[in-house]
Amino acid sequence: METSTDHIKVAVRVRPLLPIDKSQDIIVYTGNNSEIRISDGDHYLSSSYDKVFTAESSQDEIFDFVSPILERTIKGFNCTIFAYGQTGSGKTFTMFGADWEINNPAAQDYFERNSISRRRPSTGLEHPLDSPAKQGIIPKSIAMLFNKSEGKQLTYYSSFLQIYNEKIYDLLQDPNRSKALNIRESKIYGIFVEGLAEFVVESTEDCFMLLSKGDRNRAVRQTRFNHHSSRSHTIFQLLLESDKANKRGVLKRGKLNFCDLAGSEKYDKENAMVQDHIKELTQINKSLSTLGKVIYALGSGNTSHIPYRDSKLTRLLQDSLGVSTQTILIATVSPSAGYAEETISTLKFADRAR
Ligand code: ADP
Ligand code: MG
Repeated sequence: METSTDHIKVAVRVRPLLPIDKSQDIIVYTGNNSEIRISDGDHYLSSSYDKVFTAESSQDEIFDFVSPILERTIKGFNCTIFAYGQTGSGKTFTMFGADWEINNPAAQDYFERNSISRRRPSTGLEHPLDSPAKQGIIPKSIAMLFNKSEGKQLTYYSSFLQIYNEKIYDLLQDPNRSKALNIRESKIYGIFVEGLAEFVVESTEDCFMLLSKGDRNRAVRQTRFNHHSSRSHTIFQLLLESDKANKRGVLKRGKLNFCDLAGSEKYDKENAMVQDHIKELTQINKSLSTLGKVIYALGSGNTSHIPYRDSKLTRLLQDSLGVSTQTILIATVSPSAGYAEETISTLKFADRAR
């Protein structure tokens, strides 16, 4: 059943109940793959989406849902995929993959060897990203893009940035967040970030190297939800440029933005928050609510005023988040009764977006 507009698709993904949840599962699926219910006595909600992925859904099923966007990008359209949800709900799992963690010893070892040789290690060591069953949307997309565009004379540029406290930093060149970058707009390039490094990538391995490097530089802060909870939005961007110019001498370009958003939780019930932490949360909530308004405006067809300029995130994505582009939002939720309020808030956000 297709009910949302063509340029926005919204899915929900429920992660499995984990031992650390120490709580029961409150999610009810209705069997039609598009509806979800919560009823645990205190809370009730029932809403539907373009697709609902259950705790049993595989990484491949998620990828099948998003992969049509890749074709669009090759054709020269700008597209964006968002993972939205509270910290610990599976955003990074969905976008990057399983075991994609900076302190995973296997991953660490892989990074170290590769940063020297820039090649896959010959030791037989396998990085989680090399295993298709574990790969999330980004590595799968990269592999498929390189596959599909073979012989197509496309050049790929890739960049990786973070938005922390409404400031943009290059994740690949500036791990210490020493220089905030500015958004610019030009006739030829559209929206771009001045001074952001764009690397020419020629293979999936090149991309994985950049992903690994950027991921290690993400802004992290411990919260009760998980140890490297991300407090920044990160955007991994692939720019495809066709080597052949069209009749008017203009190169065909398509942008693909993979956006792992900062945790959407409203507050931290259990821990006293220090001043820095409150500032982070305020900025995150502001940019996420602006994103919600932009997506809502696009979905409702009322595109006369879209508040792109109200946050760095939406301003940066302005030319990838409109009527001639395609956007997918994946809302990730925990099934645990302990997080019912956050889960309901995420489901409502996704419902409005649709
Ligand atoms: P977030 O990025 O939203 O903070 P993570 O992606 O880090 O959350 O997920 C939190 C934990 O849950 C991780 O240990 C992750 O491996 C696990 N997890 C998330 N989604 C799934 C899933 N669909 N299947 C299995 N484990 C998952
Ligand atoms: Mg994460």
